[in-house]
Amino acid sequence: MPAIIPIRAFSDNYIWLVREGGNAAVVDPGDAAPVQSYLDREGLTLTAILNTHHHGDHVGGNAALLARCAVPVFGPAREAIPGRTRALAEGDAFTVPGIGLALSVLDVPGHTAGHVAYVAADGGEAGPLAFVGDTLFAGGCGRLFEGTPAQMAQSLGKLAALPGATRVYCAHEYTLANLRFALAVEPGNAALRARLARDEARRDAGVPTVPSSIAEELATNPFLRAAEAAVFAAAEARAGRRLAGAVDAFAVLREWKNAF
Ligand code: ZN
Ligand code: FE
Repeated sequence: MPAIIPIRAFSDNYIWLVREGGNAAVVDPGDAAPVQSYLDREGLTLTAILNTHHHGDHVGGNAALLARCAVPVFGPAREAIPGRTRALAEGDAFTVPGIGLALSVLDVPGHTAGHVAYVAADGGEAGPLAFVGDTLFAGGCGRLFEGTPAQMAQSLGKLAALPGATRVYCAHEYTLANLRFALAVEPGNAALRARLARDEARRDAGVPTVPSSIAEELATNPFLRAAEAAVFAAAEARAGRRLAGAVDAFAVLREWKNAF
């Protein structure tokens, strides 16, 4: 049963290392150096690289890791992924080599055009889990660099439909800024206030706020709550006009967050 370990990179990235016995796979190694030093320190053998999308802070370490150890590289079929050996799209499933973790693939375009997420219905002791890259963040969502609000809303909807207990492993520590924005949208949400207080304490203690869970995101993340009356009304007030539906509200929220 694998353990999931955060490796910090750059200012706020998490590279997720999945560890089973003496083996390790990494998700979105934007930088090889902190991964390699963890592997060396712990005496682990790298068995696979998984990438969610093509941005440099997610794939930048692929080449250097592959130079040390030629492992399979799993990545989205519709994006350029350095060293990719297995091109994946929604409906594909595979077992992470050396780890024994069974994953299925979801297409979650929006942040980038070909972004994928990896879902484990059974992560063993880690429970059901998903590696979501820069699509769903704790308390927020990724910026729309290559996709439309409708695409991103649909992608987030796929993740929101996962079981509530699913642990959400996103790739950045953006949580406090996201939750402060969420509170501006939805000041009356008691679960949100409680989450912000808890996660502020975690950051004060130097502890990651990730993973969260799908249930927690459904209760507190405005980007999953655009159809909720209070969130929808806040989006209409921000826009200064009536909005036709949840996708329009989502688009207003995303623009609002960009300027927050
Ligand atoms: Zn990105
Ligand atoms: Fe990123």
